[in-house]
Amino acid sequence: MELTNEISILKGIGKKTSDYFKKIGVVTVADLINYRPSGYKVYTDWVNIADVDFEGVFAIRARITAPLVKRTTKNQKSVVLCKVADETGDMSIIWFNSAYLCSVLKAGMVFVFYGKIKKDGNTYVMEHPEYFPTNKYRELTKTLYPVYSKTKGLSNKTIVKAISQVIESYPIETLDFFDEKFLNKYSLCDYEYALNNIHFPFSKEAYTKAKERLTFDDFFIFLSMIRLMKDSSRQIDNNFRIKKWSIAESVINKLPFELTDAQKKVFKELVKDFSGDYACHRLVEGDVGSGKTIIAILAMIMMAENGYQSALMVPTYVLATQHYKKIKGLFSNLGLTFNVSILTGHTKAKEKREIYEKLESGEIDIIVGTHALITDKVKMKNLSLVITDEQHRFGVNQRSMLADKGEMVHVLAMTATPIPRTLAMILYADMDISLIDKAPSNRLPVKNCVVDTRFRKKSYELIINEVRAGRQAYVICPLVEESENKDLVNVIDYTKMLEEIFPRDIKVSYLHGAMKDEEKEEIMGRFSRNDIQVLVSTTVIEVGIDVANATVMLIENSERFGLAQLHQIRGRIGRGAHQSYCIFMSPFLHNEKTKERLDIVNKSTDGFEISNKDLDLRGSGDILGTVQSGFLEFNTTDIYENADIIKKVSLAVEDYFGNEEDKERVFKKIEQRFGNIDSLKEKFLSSF
Ligand code: ADP
Ligand code: MG
Repeated sequence: MELTNEISILKGIGKKTSDYFKKIGVVTVADLINYRPSGYKVYTDWVNIADVDFEGVFAIRARITAPLVKRTTKNQKSVVLCKVADETGDMSIIWFNSAYLCSVLKAGMVFVFYGKIKKDGNTYVMEHPEYFPTNKYRELTKTLYPVYSKTKGLSNKTIVKAISQVIESYPIETLDFFDEKFLNKYSLCDYEYALNNIHFPFSKEAYTKAKERLTFDDFFIFLSMIRLMKDSSRQIDNNFRIKKWSIAESVINKLPFELTDAQKKVFKELVKDFSGDYACHRLVEGDVGSGKTIIAILAMIMMAENGYQSALMVPTYVLATQHYKKIKGLFSNLGLTFNVSILTGHTKAKEKREIYEKLESGEIDIIVGTHALITDKVKMKNLSLVITDEQHRFGVNQRSMLADKGEMVHVLAMTATPIPRTLAMILYADMDISLIDKAPSNRLPVKNCVVDTRFRKKSYELIINEVRAGRQAYVICPLVEESENKDLVNVIDYTKMLEEIFPRDIKVSYLHGAMKDEEKEEIMGRFSRNDIQVLVSTTVIEVGIDVANATVMLIENSERFGLAQLHQIRGRIGRGAHQSYCIFMSPFLHNEKTKERLDIVNKSTDGFEISNKDLDLRGSGDILGTVQSGFLEFNTTDIYENADIIKKVSLAVEDYFGNEEDKERVFKKIEQRFGNIDSLKEKFLSSF
């Protein structure tokens, strides 16, 4: 078996199945080796029947209260109905095509039933659950079953079989990047062990060890790439040295608010960069709402007053429009005559042509836009500064493609990812870093509460009251199942339910990841104009707009989110002068651990502190959620959770880069596993 072989060489994989595998990006044996579970089935602790008042997958421990009944439905399906009860309430269970159960399950028996609970009129019904004796179930809660991202036609079982075959017959140990000495030095398990236990964890501890090793590998490749880039980017001469910045300073004096000390400091750093010997290459890091936009505007004003052009690139149409309007408004208030324009995918063709011309002639001083800015058609007369907002949403190559429209321009990147300085210096090793570490002082702190579902009615009342006072609200629902589809049903159903409960004049709408960009932007735009008062959403709003008028955030099933993620979600509110409220709701508050975790976000507003405490609490044996977002794709949560690994990796990379022989050897292994370094670099650049 070779890594480059197509997977059809495996037993039981014919043409049809390998086509399905293609859909999940698996073509070769190497692809299969690099494929990982998207999560694990975890048998959760059972809950009281009385506490089930939301659809989802639950375990209950209950006694069968009456003999099972067999029925045939209208469309000739055979079903078995069963009544169960625990100390807190009763519930119906339904099985499909399982008539044999009537002779197996008898009244009086006690089992743990694990399955999907659905609402049926006013009651809840558990559908086709698995059932276990109590002791057996207790055992199960200690193990993990791999779940792979599903695609139609390809079952989890088929994936499991294919992966087992490869693990059994390929000499996995030959793929290890590192030798024993290295593994010992960094206390890592070997690659073979890691691969076995990421798919089929022998125990939770083994899984943790495996995950740590594979995460180490991922960040090792990632940081090696950064290191390669850093080596190739020498210091660039400043071609756009500014001579004056008095207009920018006068703008600062005329703003409706005083800049915070942190903002003032960053402004000074920028003046120093722009007027210095070398081109500026800086990352501005500040938590959501810390006031980065004004910094970007001031930077662009400095360029404009020296006769240079600048470009501000943002990830979405809504954000672009928001920034553009803000700049226009500010300039007209202050009587500034610099020429500002906006260019996005939605700009009409004729208008686009005009903008291209004006950029080329130098008539436009400041251009705000989305990816539309990086097409070949955009040529600029004297572009001197490129700013990317929400930097973590752009690939490095997009940033540099925009920068290529000028001659060695200044580069300024803005991000809300609140990672501590030491980590930022590792992850953005090729940039200088400015921190905005204090938010403007005019804000009222968000009022938080952690509540169980009995509080749902009260929460709705709070939302209605706030809407009546002119404010707006978000409701966040988690992915109930792995599949996008379920997510979709979830927010749409929830929206329907709210529409029924809420007074007619309150407009409720929804947002989810599977919607088209235009649709998303349309909804976000309407929400920002207060045409929509309540927005039900999955976590797609994490990078969103600044709707200062939104003051309520209700997070359903908040126990299902990582704490860092909860902190990011909460960052959408508390951005204006009005008091904001964040409600962390969960049906599992009787579980001490869940309560303790949620209490962390309840009590703290510091992103890093939150994630650290979360890690402490979870310890090593306990696992939540999935592996990571994808190969060489890291989100904030990945970065938080792996802070210690990242630091370790950073040392390891230095080790390797110090010795040409070691470096060559490891790079050869990386190429063996992932293809050549250049194509890997491409992949890396487009995902960072
Ligand atoms: P972010 O850092 O998330 O991009 P913004 O730049 O959107 O934050 O700022 C959030 C809000 O705070 C905006 O409405 C902005 O006008 C306001 N703001 C920025 N700086 C200050 C300040 N120094 N004092 C008061 N409000 C400020
Ligand atoms: Mg911003």
